[in-house]
Amino acid sequence: MIEKVEQPTVNDGYRNFPMVPKVVFGKGSFDQLEQILAAERKDRAPFVFIVDDIFENQPSLVDRITLKFNDKLIFASTIEEPKTTQVDEIVKKIRTEYKELPSGIIGIGGGSILDLAKAVSIMLTNSGSASEYQGWDLVKKKAVYHVGIPTISGTGAEVSRTCVLTGPEKKLGINSDYTPFDQVILDPDLCMGVPKNQWFYTGMDCFIHCVESLQGTFLNAFSQSYGEKAYDLCVEIFLSDDLTAEEARAKLMMASWHGGMSIAYSQVGVAHALSYGLGYVLGTKHGIGNCIVFNHLEEFYPDGVKLFKQMMEKHDIDLPVGICSQLTDAQMETMIDTALGLEPLWENALGNNWRDIATREKLRELYLKM
Ligand code: NAD
Ligand code: ZN
Repeated sequence: MIEKVEQPTVNDGYRNFPMVPKVVFGKGSFDQLEQILAAERKDRAPFVFIVDDIFENQPSLVDRITLKFNDKLIFASTIEEPKTTQVDEIVKKIRTEYKELPSGIIGIGGGSILDLAKAVSIMLTNSGSASEYQGWDLVKKKAVYHVGIPTISGTGAEVSRTCVLTGPEKKLGINSDYTPFDQVILDPDLCMGVPKNQWFYTGMDCFIHCVESLQGTFLNAFSQSYGEKAYDLCVEIFLSDDLTAEEARAKLMMASWHGGMSIAYSQVGVAHALSYGLGYVLGTKHGIGNCIVFNHLEEFYPDGVKLFKQMMEKHDIDLPVGICSQLTDAQMETMIDTALGLEPLWENALGNNWRDIATREKLRELYLKM
């Protein structure tokens, strides 16, 4: 008789989920940053601000960041999503410049910058390359104090237990108890200059998190309570005519938070799995990639996709087409491998027998529609 040994998976048991312990919410709350940081400052140890370089020539934001003593401001590009090499470079720069560990890392930007800041704070106390920590619970030492300040809403990166990085072998997050921010500042006014298309793509990331969480087999009352709230907020923000721009900004910020909380205790699904494939092979960014994929997922998420199409139409959003038509066979195979490698996402979306539905042929057919 052959005894089958079951390996525990990341989804076994109840997870002891760390949350962001401190959060400030409100219009103009960004101005409290200096006061918040003062309590965390250690002798001779700087604060390092990592800011989206879109703000480099925007005094309305940069002039409100007070650098004291040896504090440092680093502008980071978001033309590409964060890479493990980019994290390693910033960590090296900080280590070379300062003898002491920083008092804290402050990330100001969208999901890309928030993830970059989380990863840098982890890698300052853990040795080696960030690529060695892509996965689940590989981080051994507590990160440096880190603060997240979103300037665009939707990803839920401000509240999540992961920071997604593209590494030499894979696009995968550093999922650990040390990843969540120690402090988040939610100031809806910081999202004022976001271009419409980007607002939509990143906002839809939140909507898609909700659909995937609420339609998933991992659903439970914890995820559902957050997911339903965020879903309703998204419908209100993207389909009603009753909100002022200011109200919509504040609500989307909270939808992002709730959407992130919802997937914390469940998982994302088909859209994210396929979007990761696009991201890895073509460099398609997360928000727009999710939209491109979700647009073709009626068979998996009929109600969600129907609403999504209404939202696209209402806001006059165009999506690129034919993005997979020029792929080589090898690229297509890599894309399919990347997507299918995300087993928990498929298991959440389609149940234990997901392999019968998500065949390589099925994925190829879907990719060719995009
Ligand atoms: P982003 O951070 O890449 O920003 C998108 C664009 O918006 C950039 O060009 C940026 O410069 C611009 N922008 C940001 N704030 C602006 C402002 N106030 N005014 C004008 N322009 C502004 O996009 P995103 O969609 O927020 O984040 C995507 C990233 O988040 C991906 O790398 C993805 O992997 C990651 N992600 C992480 C999680 C997580 O839980 N950690 C979840 C989902 C997505
Ligand atoms: Zn997402």
